[in-house]
Amino acid sequence: MASEFDLIARHFTRTAPGDILGVGDDCALFPVPEGMRVAVSKDLLIAGRHFYPDADPRAVGHKALAVNLSDLAAMGAQPLGCLLGLALPARDDAWLAAFAEGFHALARAHGCPLIGGDTTRSPHDLTLSVTVFGAVPADTALRRDGACVDDDIWVSGALGAADVAYRLLDGQLPADAARLALTRRALEWPQPRVALGLALRGLAHAAIDLSDGLGQDLGHILTASGVAAELLFESLPRAAGLDGLPPAVLRQALLGGGDVYELCFTASPARRAEIEAAGAACGVPLTRIGRIQAGQGLVLRDAQGQAIEQLPGGFDHFA
Ligand code: ADP
Ligand code: MG
Repeated sequence: MASEFDLIARHFTRTAPGDILGVGDDCALFPVPEGMRVAVSKDLLIAGRHFYPDADPRAVGHKALAVNLSDLAAMGAQPLGCLLGLALPARDDAWLAAFAEGFHALARAHGCPLIGGDTTRSPHDLTLSVTVFGAVPADTALRRDGACVDDDIWVSGALGAADVAYRLLDGQLPADAARLALTRRALEWPQPRVALGLALRGLAHAAIDLSDGLGQDLGHILTASGVAAELLFESLPRAAGLDGLPPAVLRQALLGGGDVYELCFTASPARRAEIEAAGAACGVPLTRIGRIQAGQGLVLRDAQGQAIEQLPGGFDHFA
């Protein structure tokens, strides 16, 4: 289809910066900084599953890249560039133009140019896949397996808004326009914590981004590191728009709610002042929410120090 190339030229071809060979050849070429490892990650998004088919296409473009940049952030990697795979049921130039605007704006903001991809017509729902490339020194990459006993557990930003917005839009919570207005931006326009990830190189022992919920994602750090953790429920930073929710809904939003794209990381208590300075320099609030312990498993304690039973689970596509 001749218009495949016109579509790519119109919506996805931007002049690649400096010494990058971007869209238009068989492969893109980009330089890799001396002594660095290439960090690579990919996410797949399907209309109707990961975003509403009638969602603002600018927000879909933003989020498609944001969730991938969040993986680079969680590794402490500097973005280098990205690829976009598109399977489209039909060509809709107004939708594509808005999608591309949201995508390119975030790409520019993080120095992560779109350098290639693939485009096809599809008999299925609109499907997008973004692959990001970043650079990180091998010895300071923020892996999941580095948490140490007695580390503090930190989280950036605030929790729960995306989950509440999703449940409001999905009809699982009673309609509440004021609550939706406070929480919706977190769901549709997540801000990947790239600068914070870079600032945590050499400070954090382990890190992960909260795509599937704090309980589950912190669980991945614990399993990979062979340690346990204790979390204090009252210390979990709450997003605006969560007041007055039933306790079980609040607990689910804070611990089980996915799509957060904040960073959870562990670090030695000796580094608290440096970590607070790193958060301040990036303009991201950081909160200590618990401690790494010997053993296995995750215990959540209430304000009286009692263990809270029945931690809500995180998101699992095949559960
Ligand atoms: P090939 O046949 O070598 O796979 P294509 O015809 O699929 O090449 O793509 C032509 C050029 O357009 C390539 O540089 C490719 O990376 C780029 N491209 C295709 N689809 C997209 C897209 N959705 N976003 C960005 N670049 C794309
Ligand atoms: Mg191709």
